[in-house]
Amino acid sequence: MTNLFAERLLVICMLTNDCNQACKYCSESAGCGNAEMLPYEVVDQLLKDIYSISKESIISFIGGEATIWPGFYDILKAESFEKISLRSLYTNATAISGEHIDSIRDAGFFEVRVSLDSDRQEEHDASRGAGTFHKAVSNIGLMVENDIPVTAGTVLSKSNLNRLEGLIDYFKSLNLKMIHFFPLYMKGRGGSQKSLELSTEDREYIRRKLETNYPSCSAAREPLCESGTWYFKVLCNGDCIVQKDRDKRELGNLFEHRFSELYRKAEAMLNPAVISCKECKYYDNPILCENMHIYCMNDLNFMV
Ligand code: SF4
Ligand code: SF4
Repeated sequence: MTNLFAERLLVICMLTNDCNQACKYCSESAGCGNAEMLPYEVVDQLLKDIYSISKESIISFIGGEATIWPGFYDILKAESFEKISLRSLYTNATAISGEHIDSIRDAGFFEVRVSLDSDRQEEHDASRGAGTFHKAVSNIGLMVENDIPVTAGTVLSKSNLNRLEGLIDYFKSLNLKMIHFFPLYMKGRGGSQKSLELSTEDREYIRRKLETNYPSCSAAREPLCESGTWYFKVLCNGDCIVQKDRDKRELGNLFEHRFSELYRKAEAMLNPAVISCKECKYYDNPILCENMHIYCMNDLNFMV
């Protein structure tokens, strides 16, 4: 198989593994005493290096909970961040408040993906913690009012599978741009929720239901890069990996090496062909780019 790099470089940056929540099925086992984080200077230098490698790149901030990383609102104003052409954020939206909305809007994220699993407070709170449903929904409302492009990252399991339509109707009423569906993963604390794991039949049932009941917005992706491309991931301990699907290669640590150096190492290791994203139909809408769908099972796109 040909190794492919996307012309538009994607770097996913885990700012911290700390979290203000302790969800029962967190695949990263975030929070609960975890508090590793990248120093501000390392993130700033990473962004500068990304820009020096590619003027067309995507930075995606994830956690733990990215918005509780101490430098979060400072980096949104940094020149290094503003120079990155496309920026996205994954958040539980429960650590933000009204005073942060302007900063998040002005950061110009093309997508703010919020974890929301249910249309029912009891169900969401049972997995993610008391009060998290109301906080997340209220902050989604604030962001949508402020023209921030909010999508949902929704974990499907045996518990919400049978109420798919109700859940979708509710999410649509929140004016979300898209729902990304994920299966409950057995990784991290997810391993303790084995009884809720989706079977192959459940996944097929979901796929058919979405395609049949939501034909106009069921996003069957046909990316130009077909089998995906390698992308980069920086962990909160500084480790940098290059990854495609589940195939991961360790490159080194950003506390010891510059990202530009590790990028060249990946190039030498993989000897990739570079695919021209500009010719791809998802170029103008990276929410649908194959590289932004790591581990995602299905999508409903309400922007169509
Ligand atoms: S699933 Fe997300 S919100 Fe929940 S503990 Fe993990 S990182 Fe935090
Ligand atoms: S889906 Fe399109 S834009 Fe995304 S990496 Fe593949 S070719 Fe590039």
